[in-house]
Amino acid sequence: MIQQTLLLIKPNATKKNNIGAILKMVERNNFVIEKLKMMKMDEPLAEKFYAEHFGRDFYPFLLEFMLSGKIVAVLLSRENAIPKLRELVGNTDFEKANLGTIRSLYADSYRENSVHASDSPESAKREISLIFS
Ligand code: ADP
Ligand code: MG
Repeated sequence: MIQQTLLLIKPNATKKNNIGAILKMVERNNFVIEKLKMMKMDEPLAEKFYAEHFGRDFYPFLLEFMLSGKIVAVLLSRENAIPKLRELVGNTDFEKANLGTIRSLYADSYRENSVHASDSPESAKREISLIFS
């Protein structure tokens, strides 16, 4: 089934000029870039985007990080896009991410793990409408 999913290239990766390298990996893995925009999140958007993590100890630091620079939002499609992108992105903890995954290559820390990828059809729908509505 052809699905859509959302990739965000996070501020640590945009700052280090890794946008092109990450987009190349995505395209080489047969994802189609349907929409793409560079932007800065504002606080209300970041709060909505990460609402599921409100109250967690890492939440304020996550928001501060996501607001610290430019991000690139990418709407992607392909067969089974949601699980396939999570696979290509790798574990949240880059030290546990498989070799060759985006996070294994471009994460700087647990928090600054270079990219976000939607984790379910419900999340993808919600996140795409937050960013691309
Ligand atoms: P994922 O991005 O893999 O879906 P989560 O949804 O659990 O992971 O967390 C969202 C983001 O919050 C992570 O990508 C990471 O940037 C940050 N984060 C999550 N847990 C921690 C933690 N324990 N310490 C620091 N940052 C964290
Ligand atoms: Mg998540």
